[in-house]
Amino acid sequence: MSENQIKTESTDVLIIGAGPSGTVAAAILQKKGYKVHIVEKQRFPRFVIGESLLPRCMENFDKAGLIDAIEKHPFQKKFGAKFVHNEKTCDFDFSQQYTKGWSWTWQVQRSCFDKVLADEVESRDIQLDYETEVTGVTIHEDGTSVTKVRNSKGEEQQIEAKYIIDASGFGRVLPRLFDLDAPSDMPARASLFTHIDSKSNSSDPERQRIIIVVHDIDVWAWVIPFSDGSTSVGVVGSADSVNKFEGNLEEQMRSWIGEIDALNKRFTGDEFKFEPRKIMGYSSEVKQLYGKGYVLTGNASGFIDPVFSSGVTLATESGARAAELIIKEFEGEEANWEEDYSNYIKGGVKVFKAFIEAWYDGTLPTIFFSPNANDKIRKQICSVLAGYVWDKSNPFVTKPQRVLSNILKIIS
Ligand code: FAD
Repeated sequence: MSENQIKTESTDVLIIGAGPSGTVAAAILQKKGYKVHIVEKQRFPRFVIGESLLPRCMENFDKAGLIDAIEKHPFQKKFGAKFVHNEKTCDFDFSQQYTKGWSWTWQVQRSCFDKVLADEVESRDIQLDYETEVTGVTIHEDGTSVTKVRNSKGEEQQIEAKYIIDASGFGRVLPRLFDLDAPSDMPARASLFTHIDSKSNSSDPERQRIIIVVHDIDVWAWVIPFSDGSTSVGVVGSADSVNKFEGNLEEQMRSWIGEIDALNKRFTGDEFKFEPRKIMGYSSEVKQLYGKGYVLTGNASGFIDPVFSSGVTLATESGARAAELIIKEFEGEEANWEEDYSNYIKGGVKVFKAFIEAWYDGTLPTIFFSPNANDKIRKQICSVLAGYVWDKSNPFVTKPQRVLSNILKIIS
């Protein structure tokens, strides 16, 4: 078939990627009556890491009208986060947070969770093409675009759109095509993880939260229990630290379980549900979050670090915001992308980033495990950990670095 004969379809909004960022954006646009077409490179269910959600993202699922569909599935409810270092523990209960908001969320196997979201948007008259990959994008001066895609049979197609939302996660389709990648100032870290068929009881109240285990200043581990009795376990640190054990990935993971006391007590001898995976250097940034006719959302717009489970919250927040601003433009109003998208999203990222830096330089672990941190401080920190990073009445949101270093001085 010649270039001129390629099948061409038209849509209001083309969304690249059917992860939570893409499906939340799609549902919000479709609710307002706009035509949405999603292209997704893989076939679902597919594995993706990012399993512990934050209460703040519930607001986006709610906006998109997706909560009922999710609730039909018995995902593990999550009510808080527990930090552990040797014998010391620090618990955050989301019902005790400073900001008025959701007090719970879920811990989910993303293969299943993302398929629930994708099936739901497909049932709402949104075209979702699986195993379809973007191969090229041309944006015209007026912002309309033509995107070339290819499916698994090698068939090519063109999609004309008024707007493109790039929600392609680590695929970072537009950052790569338009040379938007920027160097990340986060040190390159690595993570080794698997799901464990743990023997612990599925009604154990410990299951209703994420557990973060501090091993040393450089290495920490996550424990994320699921409703079926299995548990996601991961180790994060500098590449040198994470790679310190020899052997295949299963042997390395077993060595880490043996090394970290809190994992050793719980998982030694338990079966892995799949061969552990290792990913490295996942932090990323972009030069700009939007341009004429397109916007980057979720991981396609950057990723910081997994320690505070901020990924899906930022992915759904940016997906929802992008959809709302596109709707504004479609309705003939002017959208202030710099202020209401770029600065807004970067504002939330900045708060998480300050917390992540304070985690790795030891400030936050010191505050968490100090007997001197008062109740008000804990509640305000709890709200950031619940994802309420846009609540300007919280001093940990407006001046995170300054407040954290002042508290460190007071309690030590
Ligand atoms: P994704 O969920 O990755 O979806 C993007 C989709 O785009 C994919 O399905 C992909 O197949 C598709 N795609 C890619 N390229 C193309 C293409 N060319 N054409 C069409 N489709 C394409 N976040 C949390 O909230 N909680 C956690 O506990 C957590 N833990 C993490 C642990 C680690 C080690 C890491 C690295 C990240 C973690 N994250 C966590 C982050 C989380 O994984 C992401 O932030 C989140 O999945 C981003 O969602 P998304 O919708 O932007 O992208």
